[in-house]
Amino acid sequence: MTLKLGVIGAGAIGQDHIRRCMQTLSGGRITAVNDINSETAASAVRKYAVDATVVLDPHTLIRSNDVDAVIVTSWGPSHEEFVLSAIETGKFVFCEKPLATTADACRRIVDAEMKHGQRLVQVGFMRPYDPGYRALKAVVDSGKIGDPLMLHCAHRNPRVGKYYTTDMAITDTLIHELHVLRWLLSDDYISAQVIYPRKTSQALAHLRDPQIALLETAKGTRIDVEIFVNCQYGYDIQCEIVGELGIARLPEPSAVPLRSQAARSEAILTDWKERFIGAYDIEMQDFIDGVREGKLRGPHAWSGYCAAVAADACVAAQTSGAVVPIDLPAQPAFYA
Ligand code: NAP
Repeated sequence: MTLKLGVIGAGAIGQDHIRRCMQTLSGGRITAVNDINSETAASAVRKYAVDATVVLDPHTLIRSNDVDAVIVTSWGPSHEEFVLSAIETGKFVFCEKPLATTADACRRIVDAEMKHGQRLVQVGFMRPYDPGYRALKAVVDSGKIGDPLMLHCAHRNPRVGKYYTTDMAITDTLIHELHVLRWLLSDDYISAQVIYPRKTSQALAHLRDPQIALLETAKGTRIDVEIFVNCQYGYDIQCEIVGELGIARLPEPSAVPLRSQAARSEAILTDWKERFIGAYDIEMQDFIDGVREGKLRGPHAWSGYCAAVAADACVAAQTSGAVVPIDLPAQPAFYA
């Protein structure tokens, strides 16, 4: 049976997921699309899913008999409403990161899912599906570099629009690292601080950019993450782990080394869609396969909640400048 998928939010990543479900992946097809702007939904349907229906009300889409599972790709503050509605209807739901914009909202999703009694939610944290991150984790888990002592990471985007605010550096950007580093280290955060270097002249007046998040884990590992969203030169994700016995780095995406015009060069990607295209494909295929088998394996709502707890602490640290403690409750057996 081909899975019937309904998408809420047909912007950048919504359209990209519609395209991959229709053109790259197997086992699912897009049957319904909603967007707050119906023309945006209609345009996505015309481009990638001509047989799908534009549904004007997102809750009608969730309840529709023509939708077996829901993909939520609207903007962050709307995620909680749609994920809760999918759980209430008993349908599987893939929700782009962040699961919700606050830890309290994520907790309500966790509670609703546990009350339902079966895992229904997969969060769109795709980095654990990335071959580079998987190879890095294999090295850490092998013990080859000993215990991780320090991590130096960077999350750089060429530029952001005027909608992007200082707290979004945490809730929309750093949230990827908050999730993937916890997974990479098999460790929990215990504190966060945010400091601001000299501001770039390339950022709009309202935005503090760059920022550095400093995290400490329960095992004592110290992590610094540079968040620089107007770096101009490319979309660049870096992660270096300094261990007791050696250093391991996230592999660079492959690029052709070029010798031309008396220079050696290698292109740097500028688009996040390209940087993690393989990871997005694998995560969405895993969601489709998981739904068809009735058992999700991808990032769960609890991991979305944990990332949000750490994000809340980082947002508090942005304004206070203080070291903010992070206190995570024990993981419920439901998510083991
Ligand atoms: P986007 O281009 O702005 O697309 C979001 C779309 O959802 C827009 O068309 C927006 O309409 C629509 N929308 C907003 N509120 C809605 C609502 N209540 N009901 C229905 N539609 C609504 O943003 P995006 O870059 O695709 O990001 C969407 C989500 O995906 C965000 O949570 C973002 O963090 C996440 N994301 C994840 C990754 C990743 O690497 N995993 C990458 C990119 C984005 P308007 O434009 O009219 O508001």
